Amino acid sequence: MFHYDRGLKLTRADLAVDFRRRQPRAFVSHAHVDHMARHEYALCTPSTGALYCLRYGQRPTRDMPYGEPLEFGGLRLTTHPAGHCLGSAMLLAEDGDQSLLYTGDFKLGESATAERAVLPPADVLVIESTYGNPLYRHPPRAGVLDRFFSLVQAALDDDRTPVVEAYVLGKGQEVTRLLTSHGFPVLQDPRIFAVSEVYRARGVDLGDCHLYPGHPLPGHVVVVPPRMHRGSRLPNLRRTVSFAVTGWATHERTRDRLGVDHAIPLSDHADYDELFEAVERVNPRIIYCTHGPLSFVDCLRAAGHNAYPLEPPKEKLTVQTPVQRRLF
Ligand SMILES: [Zn+2]
Repeated sequence: MFHYDRGLKLTRADLAVDFRRRQPRAFVSHAHVDHMARHEYALCTPSTGALYCLRYGQRPTRDMPYGEPLEFGGLRLTTHPAGHCLGSAMLLAEDGDQSLLYTGDFKLGESATAERAVLPPADVLVIESTYGNPLYRHPPRAGVLDRFFSLVQAALDDDRTPVVEAYVLGKGQEVTRLLTSHGFPVLQDPRIFAVSEVYRARGVDLGDCHLYPGHPLPGHVVVVPPRMHRGSRLPNLRRTVSFAVTGWATHERTRDRLGVDHAIPLSDHADYDELFEAVERVNPRIIYCTHGPLSFVDCLRAAGHNAYPLEPPKEKLTVQTPVQRRLF
């Protein structure tokens, strides 16, 4: 049903899935740059299409609203919400004989700005397993948010500007929505604000949120991209308390590694337990893991699942594992 060509391809439809190199026909699960390229023709949800065109300019896309099957190249293709960011989608491909679900980046838990994930059953599951390590179990969201809001309030009470670092697409909007819902107005970096405008146009209310006017305002929180991605720092940010909002904050050294005052463990990826929950809900005959630690395959096998890495082992291409027999 699929083969591996430095990425997942649905064979019958000759459809590349989340390729980072240009393709004649590609499915784009969501608009993070590590999942897309300037394709000749892209299939994606309408929201992902809007974000894709924000990034690359107007390009040929085919809208795939959630839950509306599309007959394409001999396959029936249906998108389902992935819970990762606005428009993020899983792809269910059916050929009349068997079905394959590709999750893309996903999260099962609550999000302030992404559609809640829906997991249909499938014969074959290709699962994105970023946090496929038992070290990564995200703490309960309510407690994390309580701590985050009190630290933000403490910074403001101390006459300092809280500066929250979050990814430009997804986390930036979610953290903004969480803050404004709690009564903290937000000023955004221009790159985050441009994406927020698409969110708003697609019907996501971000509350009291504005473009950073060149200086901080009393009582406001400033949301910026992570410093490693920051081309230029916003002007006039002096007395600040910095926050990183990332799933990796579950790891105790994250705060030091990122050089921030506080690391807040809010993730837009499934944690270890959610990965297992996803597998149980899809109930596949065979599982291929991607974008995560190889050890997750062993964890799945230890739990009785028929699991393999999607990517063939680089140094042992001659060894005939079941995944290679299927793929080559
Ligand atoms: Zn992503």
